[in-house]
Amino acid sequence: MTSRNDDAATVDEAISELLADHPPTTTDPKDFWGAQFDAGLAWVDFPLGDGGLGVSPSFREVVSRHLNEAGAPTWNTTANLLGIGMGAGVLAAHGTDEQRRRWLRPMFTMDEIWCQMFSEPGAGSDVASLATRAVRDGDEWILNGQKVWTTLAHLAKWGMVVTRSDPDQPKHRGMTYFMVDMEAEGVEIRPLYQITGEAEFNEVFFDDVRVPDDQRIDDVGAGWRVAMTTLMNERVAIGGRTGPRNDGAIGVAISTWNESGSRDGATRRELTRLWGEVEAMRLTTLRAAENMQAGVPGPEGSTSKLAWADLNKAVTAFTVAMQGLEGATIPEGYTLEPTTYDTREIERVMSPQRAFLRARANSIEGGTSEILRNILGERVLGLPGEPRVDKDLPWSEVPRG
Ligand SMILES: Cc1cc2nc3c(=O)[nH]c(=O)nc-3n(C[C@H](O)[C@H](O)[C@H](O)COP(=O)(O)OP(=O)(O)OC[C@H]3O[C@@H](n4cnc5c(N)ncnc54)[C@H](O)[C@@H]3O)c2cc1C
Repeated sequence: MTSRNDDAATVDEAISELLADHPPTTTDPKDFWGAQFDAGLAWVDFPLGDGGLGVSPSFREVVSRHLNEAGAPTWNTTANLLGIGMGAGVLAAHGTDEQRRRWLRPMFTMDEIWCQMFSEPGAGSDVASLATRAVRDGDEWILNGQKVWTTLAHLAKWGMVVTRSDPDQPKHRGMTYFMVDMEAEGVEIRPLYQITGEAEFNEVFFDDVRVPDDQRIDDVGAGWRVAMTTLMNERVAIGGRTGPRNDGAIGVAISTWNESGSRDGATRRELTRLWGEVEAMRLTTLRAAENMQAGVPGPEGSTSKLAWADLNKAVTAFTVAMQGLEGATIPEGYTLEPTTYDTREIERVMSPQRAFLRARANSIEGGTSEILRNILGERVLGLPGEPRVDKDLPWSEVPRG
């Protein structure tokens, strides 16, 4: 076993070599990401060959800080968040060697965008009640059903999907997880528009979609376990991103306050209060990353996501209030358009007004704040669980609306 100092030296050396061989501001982003993956600096805690160096996940922050400071392209982690932030962790924990080899690199280089298909019209917070059916047919599975709110499905090559493979088992047991080729016959994608005017997400329909068995993740019937890994990674990916001090929405709030010329004590106090909370959250998230061991993030990841949802809403609301009348307009114009790769550079290109509207979704996406409080209450604080009357019934016998 190597010491932390040895690991730090290995990581530093890999970063220096990458930056020297691939000048970060002039190398084509895709070439840079390919070289970053090959250098083991994509997910530094993953094994060699899988985009990592096999060191502690706490070095992820070191990598992203150095690459950001060098002006390297890092927007793949936002633009392909569902793959890089979530799918990679799923493959690391549940994928086969062959699946990791096949999917990790093109995901990191953005050659293949990923999406996540869990929610259905009748299954959101209670995703274990989902009804999309998977029926085995030799070496293939046939999928039928509907998913909804699927972020980036219209740009995605691969979709992580949880299905009902055995309706006679209780709801958490009869599920199986697959990777679906979003270009396969029988997959239909229809955009859904959000309050921002963007169609970031979609409805997805499966009509006799054939999925080869080698695109199954983990065992038949293990879908819930894999889904939990996905969701825990999602909460860390959404709430656990830490930039430098004053990065993101709070930086915009500070510059908006400065530009407004206001020297009124009440807004100054409010900004200072928000800044303190954002900074406390940033440092807590950094400390949590330091302590995180390799593997699947635990329910603690829900803390950052919960806190971030409330704070991001409050900070963006402060900013538009400081803008006065201007805050009621959308400077870039309001048109209904599907999200593109460029608009996925979300934080960098969005006006404060759109960021304010987009923040409304923060307490819904990736698990609502109510559900996260339930998880923290039960799994972190050890409080009594909610009554779950359908837990042991076969899924097929549970009444559905
Ligand atoms: C911007 C955005 C992007 C999304 N992207 C994706 C995606 O890519 N893939 C995907 O699969 N899904 C995605 N979702 C869907 C998201 O995961 C669901 O919206 C969310 O899980 C809530 O489910 P629901 O909308 O069906 O609401 P419901 O589950 O119907 O909940 C309605 C209300 O009831 C509350 N509630 C429900 N159960 C309980 C309970 N037991 N205790 C207390 N309160 C409860 C909820 O908190 C909520 O306020 C996205 C959503 C948004 C807003």
